[in-house]
Amino acid sequence: MRIQGGKILTSDGPRPADIVVEGSAIAAVEPQRGGAPAPGDIDASGRWVLPGGIDAHTHFGMPLGGGLASLGWRESSAAALLGGTTTVIDFANPDRGEPLAAAVARWRGMADGRVLCDYGLHATVADAGIERLAEVPALVAAGVPTFKGFLAYKDRLMLSPAALGQLMAAVADAGGLLLVHAEDGELNAKVEAELVAAERTAPRWHPDAHPVESEVHAAVLALDLARQAGCPLMVVHMSAAGTLAALRRAQADREEGGPAALGEVCLHHLFADDAAYRADDERALAAICSPPLRPAGHGAALLAALADGAIDMLSTDHCEFALAIKANAAAAGFPRIPNGCGGVGERLVLSYTLAVCEGRLDPWRWQQVMAERPALLMGLAGRKGRLEPGCDADIVLFDPEARYTWHVAPGSDAAGSLWDGREVTGRVTDVWLRGARAVQGGKLCKAQPGGRFLQRVLDRTRLGSPTDRRIDVDGRT
Ligand SMILES: [Zn+2]
Repeated sequence: MRIQGGKILTSDGPRPADIVVEGSAIAAVEPQRGGAPAPGDIDASGRWVLPGGIDAHTHFGMPLGGGLASLGWRESSAAALLGGTTTVIDFANPDRGEPLAAAVARWRGMADGRVLCDYGLHATVADAGIERLAEVPALVAAGVPTFKGFLAYKDRLMLSPAALGQLMAAVADAGGLLLVHAEDGELNAKVEAELVAAERTAPRWHPDAHPVESEVHAAVLALDLARQAGCPLMVVHMSAAGTLAALRRAQADREEGGPAALGEVCLHHLFADDAAYRADDERALAAICSPPLRPAGHGAALLAALADGAIDMLSTDHCEFALAIKANAAAAGFPRIPNGCGGVGERLVLSYTLAVCEGRLDPWRWQQVMAERPALLMGLAGRKGRLEPGCDADIVLFDPEARYTWHVAPGSDAAGSLWDGREVTGRVTDVWLRGARAVQGGKLCKAQPGGRFLQRVLDRTRLGSPTDRRIDVDGRT
């Protein structure tokens, strides 16, 4: 199959090229042949041809207990494909005392047979006891080389600084990468208790229980610990300009031999702000996530850092709860409301509309933070994230001129969405997963190729090395 007449993104902007697909892989990227497409070939004229998006931070079908869960694997992965994302990396969260490998197996049990896009798993570590840490090398070998530790969520997931340091040492030894949720759980718990005591428990008080200083303090602590442990660290869902300052300092240390210090930002922290909590109750509920939406201004700083290379990738933390689930929980006060919002379906189109079309993100860099960088940093280089021979034929056709009103994908809850009803530019028209068509003309195909679990292999030599970072920003090929 030849996808012909479209333009691929390069440093000079969109460049005409044809993509030749053989089986499940890209066989060649060639100068345009021109002429009418042969039978079986695809006419991509007027459109951009992008590598399938990679969203390295999702929570599909996350169990809450009591039979409740975030939007499931099939619906969420359908939204991903419709939005031009062909790979996600989700989090396996062990129950108390559960081995990490058992949690990974349990998550695969939920995903396999339902998931429509390819997926990998990170392992959450909420217990840094000897038994758990002893599992880390086996998980790395089994294709789960990324781990997540929390400084937030006291009495649930929070690790003490000493325990986080031990986890970092184990991850560093095993050749893995640690992701950290940087919020100070002690401080958040204290502020939350004060708000509850003052009967300030409506949804709009949620962000007050997650002060900016809490995130900055935790990020500084985590980056210091990572440096001591020699552990590559990614600060995930960065929401505050102060966190960015801490990350930039750690990256300067990297130039002097420190470990890789990486950053991730999510869609909602870039393009929504805390005014949502002061709007009506529905909107406030839709915006309940952690870290919360911040005052206007933080998003612009984070977007500038995404453009200049300090932040490595754009994810979503997609964890979509039906508004009714959040509303029921809200009756017992904001601390009981499940945290999370959707975004996996909106990531490409919204970031194109609000960053690329606004001139705040180069199209080339946009493609990089959506696909190429997450592939490299998450151990999928050479398979995903680039339009080049040998890579999986995960391909997206994108109409850069389409203008319309965004509606969430079927199965999602428009009332619980931050994004439904927005005017947007750019439309995902067609998607192939490993060479098989998954989306045609903006609609999900009836016959789906189906997603597969990805065993990932990290290349630690390329994690945020200064050379790599410079190549990303300056070495436009
Ligand atoms: Zn998350």
